[in-house]
Amino acid sequence: MYEPIMVTRTFLPPQEEYLQWVRQALDSHVLTNNGPIHKKLEEALRLRLGADHLLLTSNGTIALQLAIRTFGIKGKVITTPFSYVATVSSILWEGCIPVFADIDPNTCCIDPACIEELIDKDTTAILATHVYGIPCDVEAIEAIALRYGLKVIYDGAHAFGTLYKGKSLTSYGDACTLSFHATKLFHTVEGGAVVLHSEAHEKKMRLQRSFGHIGDEHYELGINGKMSEMHAAMGMAVLPHIEVVIRDRKRISGSYDEQISGLDLCRPVIPENTKYNYSYYPILFADESRLMKAMKGMAEMDVHTRRYFYPSLNQLPYVERTSTPVSEQIATRVLCLPLYAGLDESGIERVMTSLRNSLV
Ligand SMILES: *Cc1c(COP(=O)(O)O)cnc(C)c1O
Repeated sequence: MYEPIMVTRTFLPPQEEYLQWVRQALDSHVLTNNGPIHKKLEEALRLRLGADHLLLTSNGTIALQLAIRTFGIKGKVITTPFSYVATVSSILWEGCIPVFADIDPNTCCIDPACIEELIDKDTTAILATHVYGIPCDVEAIEAIALRYGLKVIYDGAHAFGTLYKGKSLTSYGDACTLSFHATKLFHTVEGGAVVLHSEAHEKKMRLQRSFGHIGDEHYELGINGKMSEMHAAMGMAVLPHIEVVIRDRKRISGSYDEQISGLDLCRPVIPENTKYNYSYYPILFADESRLMKAMKGMAEMDVHTRRYFYPSLNQLPYVERTSTPVSEQIATRVLCLPLYAGLDESGIERVMTSLRNSLV
């Protein structure tokens, strides 16, 4: 009857544009290890994000792990329970202890007041997510970090394209990581990056990203976190289209905004001084039973949504359980609607009709 509408659909550039880059890689016989396309993409993204230093990685999870490593973070890391699992799994994978601070119910980002209560002598860093591309309270977090001598790493997997106070959101913190997974706003199929602010950190991370050695000289423990030329090629082909992609997502979000206003739903709040990237369209139901009913009703019309994020990460079976009531509550009530460049008027209409029908 219908084409299914998925929650997201990867933006693809015209095939010929991608293939031109791929041919360059094939002709050069350089397929990875900091090749020419990789270098071009690194520089293009550095300029696009106004970053002091930027390193590409094989994915956004390795980007987080490298950031934790490069800054020598040990002991307890205060983090958000309302994020994708990779935020907390990278803390654990690097041998650190995650401590969950609750979130602000308006922005769904970590609540600075909750961070401060949890700091003790073993705390060394804050790892916070700009969830849905919405800025964390970066000023309050920076003030706390300065007061207690903590490092700040932002998981900016959703942050590409958002500006806060006229600067890319990725420029805040000691480091900000990005994910370029195919489901993200800007993508390289699989990939990621880290934005840094010093030459020394860049140098250290470059070494760690590539097994910790240069030629036969081994300096320290490393991992393979490199991006291949084929992935960088996709990045080079997608990047010129990114403004159009963001504009199209804005059109769809605006249309949803108009149509949900009469329904019993809430939306996260975008703080002032933010130029938003429209990376997701989360809606909050009054309670979980209404969410489940809507999700099921919409799926019956082949409109596919996603509980993003559920569950609250403090409830994972492999973390020490603590209570973060705001995050736990929001995680049960939040659903992301389909949002991707190219979703046309009839698609938007079907999303909204299926939502309205399932709410009655
Ligand atoms: C996607 C995502 C990641 C992981 O990125 P990958 O590139 O898939 O490894 C990390 N954090 C958040 C918030 C994400 O959404």
